[in-house]
Amino acid sequence: MESCAACRRQRKKCSEECILAPYFPPNDPDKFTVVQRVYGTNYIVKLLQGLDTEQRGDAINSLVCEASARVKDPIQGTAKMVHELQNKIAELESQLVAKEEELMNMHSKYDNLLFLQQMGSSNGQDFIYNIDTIEDIMYEQENPLSLWELI
Ligand SMILES: [Zn+2]
Repeated sequence: MESCAACRRQRKKCSEECILAPYFPPNDPDKFTVVQRVYGTNYIVKLLQGLDTEQRGDAINSLVCEASARVKDPIQGTAKMVHELQNKIAELESQLVAKEEELMNMHSKYDNLLFLQQMGSSNGQDFIYNIDTIEDIMYEQENPLSLWELI
């Protein structure tokens, strides 16, 4: 049996029962090197021993992610990533609010147009605007028409 990356790195003989072998295959030695450098082998083994088998894969993935961030940025580690993602979320939330307002405006323009159309048809008049369809008006966002001024 080929030794796992963890045993190979520690120059130990790997066994069928090796708790690290399923997560550190011999063909990916860097994965263990990074995690070992930041957390140490004892910590990794103790962590795995304290978890159910089905939780271990996720725990190792999380250690690899955190250790890689820590190696890249020893001061902030994953905190920097979290901070950047929080900023991105805040930016996207404010874009969403702006789009919702835009959509509300369009709905309200559309309602106004329907109202005007009903008034026009009940008076037997055609539209006085030189715009072909309601949709054309709805997309005139650059220079929004104040419909009530046109009445
Ligand atoms: Zn092993």
